[in-house]
Amino acid sequence: EGLKMKPELIGSIDNGTSSTRFLLFTPQGKIGASAQVEYTQYFPSGEDKSGWHEHDPVEIWESVVTCIQAVLKELEKAKIKDRPIAAIGITNQRETTIAWDADTGVPYYNAIVWDDLRTTGIADEIAQGNADRFRGKTGLPLASYFAGTKVKWLVDNVPQLRQDLRDREKSSSVRFGTVDSWLLYQLTGTKSRAQGAANFNGMFATDVSNASRWLFLDLKTVQWDQGLVDAICSPHKVPLSALPTIMPSSHHYGVCQSISEIQGVPLTAILGDQQAALFGQCAFDAGKAKCTYGTGLFLMKNTGTRQVASTHGMLTTVAYQIGQKGKVYYALEGSVSHSGSTIQWLRDKLNIIQSAPESESLAKGTQSNEGLYLVPAFAGLFAPHWRSDARACIVGMTASHHKGHICRAALEAACYQAREVFEAIVADSPFDLKSLSVDGGATENRLMMQFQSDMLDLTVIRPEVGETTALGAAFAAGLAVGVWKDLEELNKLRAIKEKFQPSMDARVREKNWQGWQKAVSRSLGWID
Ligand code: ADP
Repeated sequence: EGLKMKPELIGSIDNGTSSTRFLLFTPQGKIGASAQVEYTQYFPSGEDKSGWHEHDPVEIWESVVTCIQAVLKELEKAKIKDRPIAAIGITNQRETTIAWDADTGVPYYNAIVWDDLRTTGIADEIAQGNADRFRGKTGLPLASYFAGTKVKWLVDNVPQLRQDLRDREKSSSVRFGTVDSWLLYQLTGTKSRAQGAANFNGMFATDVSNASRWLFLDLKTVQWDQGLVDAICSPHKVPLSALPTIMPSSHHYGVCQSISEIQGVPLTAILGDQQAALFGQCAFDAGKAKCTYGTGLFLMKNTGTRQVASTHGMLTTVAYQIGQKGKVYYALEGSVSHSGSTIQWLRDKLNIIQSAPESESLAKGTQSNEGLYLVPAFAGLFAPHWRSDARACIVGMTASHHKGHICRAALEAACYQAREVFEAIVADSPFDLKSLSVDGGATENRLMMQFQSDMLDLTVIRPEVGETTALGAAFAAGLAVGVWKDLEELNKLRAIKEKFQPSMDARVREKNWQGWQKAVSRSLGWID
């Protein structure tokens, strides 16, 4: 119905870690149509490749094309014509890094995914014993997580790329980008290669939020810093021309060229997925916060136009910028590598559940964790610990525990980790939060959301539109073309679906919390 009444729809390309979606939003901020495609996760095997995680950039691009075509077909079926899409925004898994050749549009190597551990050694080496070496300038600790370490690995390990970078003429064709830049390049590219789906001659840009995740950005100037690039990529020379031009998040980037169904539609927003979720939750101002439970878990607090330096393991990052004249907003963020993916692990590796929702029904068959804790340090511990030497553990087992307890422990783990991050953010930047806005696939789990409310002793709020990340990118895109006038107007679109109120006895909460901390101490230092 909404589709028929209003012709001005806003598209959102949402490339997550496990799947790509394309959604059309109505001017009321409701989902009009959507499509989703899962794509292949590559975990290269071999002793020396433990912790590697890759995506095929061409497959990611094709998943975008498939989703867009599916949604457009739906419109066609509903007899909606007349160019109904006013603009499209892009939101993406951050830090995942792709290198490609602008002469051919062909990637040099697979995308190295954000949670890939291969660059741990690179990060440690650059750190020289001080992981906070570049924190002052970049807001980030030296860790495998960030794109810059992946650039260094690519140059170290891909001979063709290294050779092209060394060649004076060819080096200007080398591109490093996060997935947003790769997709923008493909969408705005005009030529199609015979083999594969690569386009070239596309635009080469990114937005301020994605740019803040490389270890290459000076947070103050919001520009690349050659000194940082040199320090991280040494001994290689990576020219700034190989990095995307940094633009505001809501900005007229260009128009779609390569997909005939949306040819000419303006691309007017790019936001990293977590920043998009913050924006989609209407957390536009200082003091607003959100927590997303997807593959990983990300709690973010908007600190306004002030950059708050963290001394508690949080990241200082760019939240968003609306238009060239708009101020740059910053955020404090706590990133946790595994949350929904712990549930995937229960499903795919332990096979104790058939589907993610089953984790809830099994956990419901238990009274409590009964002393069992699972620390999902599969890729070490990210915020607030930043310990690559941690590994996952299950502790406190007795013979009376069954798989329901393991499910419960996996769900509770995300809530404890959210509390760790929350307390760290409060320690860095005190604020009086009355309620926490949540989103992401795992918020479907009501047992988990109730436990989250109990563990934080805060009201937890789920918005009506669960696809907050996609909505945030649509909001930013729509602002650029005037579908929405201002942030005030977006605030009015916000609707609440469900609230969870804390109901746990304070003593029980404390006992659980202490149990968790003890469990974490067991996971630290497992790897020498
Ligand atoms: P992403 O954007 O990172 O791809 P999503 O927001 O789509 O992630 O969330 C998917 C994640 O949520 C998966 O890891 C899945 O295991 C988890 N998930 C989905 N439904 C549930 C559920 N009912 N209970 C717990 N976890 C769930």
